[in-house]
Amino acid sequence: MTVTRRIHLSAPDIGPTEEAAVLHAIRSGWVAPAGPDLDAFEREVALRVGSGHAVGVSSGTAALHLALLGVGAGPGTVVIVPTLTFAATSNAVSYTGAEPVFVDCVPGTGNLDVDLLPELFDQLRAEGRRVAAVLAVDLNGSCADYARLVPLCAEAGVPLIEDSAQAIGATYRGRHAGTFGRLGVFSFNGNKIMTTSSGGMLVSDDADLIARARWLSTQAREPVAHYEHREIGYNYRLSNLLAALGRAQLRRLDGMIERRRALRERYAKLFSAAPGTRILGDGDPGSNCWLTSIVVDPDSAGWRVGQLGEHLAAHDIESRPMFKPMHRQPVHAHRRAVVTGAADTLFATGLSLPSGSGLSAEKRDRLFDVVERFLVRNG
Ligand SMILES: *Cc1c(COP(=O)(O)O)cnc(C)c1O
Repeated sequence: MTVTRRIHLSAPDIGPTEEAAVLHAIRSGWVAPAGPDLDAFEREVALRVGSGHAVGVSSGTAALHLALLGVGAGPGTVVIVPTLTFAATSNAVSYTGAEPVFVDCVPGTGNLDVDLLPELFDQLRAEGRRVAAVLAVDLNGSCADYARLVPLCAEAGVPLIEDSAQAIGATYRGRHAGTFGRLGVFSFNGNKIMTTSSGGMLVSDDADLIARARWLSTQAREPVAHYEHREIGYNYRLSNLLAALGRAQLRRLDGMIERRRALRERYAKLFSAAPGTRILGDGDPGSNCWLTSIVVDPDSAGWRVGQLGEHLAAHDIESRPMFKPMHRQPVHAHRRAVVTGAADTLFATGLSLPSGSGLSAEKRDRLFDVVERFLVRNG
């Protein structure tokens, strides 16, 4: 791997174990979106998170699309989505023809504000709209408020889908992220906590939902000798080579989480002395600490978070603003949204900081030294 000076936000953490696994898969001859590593990867992810069944697909976005199709999202239906998320969450809703309705977040974690749901359910019901799903997101690897979301959705008769793209390995009250809804989605994109370069996994306790998703992911081919099709399918299956990479990453997941957690603890220590700052989702013991984002109140801090971003950039250190809320995106300007201003505030005052588990000791020291000098100068 090329060694650069630049410190990235969340670079892949890949080593000899992964190299050996991919080489072994190539030599096995299973260079296809099928094979023993893919089957094993599905079993191992399901086992790891405590879900009954899993299907490996080409991206987290593909898994979201299949999850939404599984619960009947389509033209004429509504899917409730948090506004503070990556575009893929609502893109997948749009692929089905359903209408995304955006809901604001709580300031503490940036996750779905559950208080806003009962009235929205009532309104949509009064309008005769069918809500195909609530699609909750586990932002930065901290689980949404499932203690309230799960019963609320059950009571309203609305399926819950969990976008745990950022949250594999995270837990909430002892249970794994991805297992709170009817279906759960993981992403193995290059910037996620474990990666297959691109890839995703759909998990569920419902064997039929997973079997149908697997069938749709391989062009919806009927089980006969010739090519026979009664429905439109997709080419969404994960490559066996990438599954081999995923298996090697999964074996190292706990260690990678621990290293990200150690980075977060170091940030927490540094920023604890800086008034007006807090870490998004701080105090969540079950977070996988995928990204550490700092939130800065400019009035009490005396500086804006953008200044820190510029200071880091000047030292060849990558950082990134929080997600721009979906209801602020030009493409969704005409969409319905239930907002309190919380996501707007996080977008204006939040910054995600380098959080990768593969950062060398030298880079870690340089990173914290640069951050500390900024805080001293602005203290
Ligand atoms: C990364 C991500 C996705 C999409 O996953 P891909 O594997 O990149 O398609 C979906 N939702 C969220 C919240 C994500 O962070």
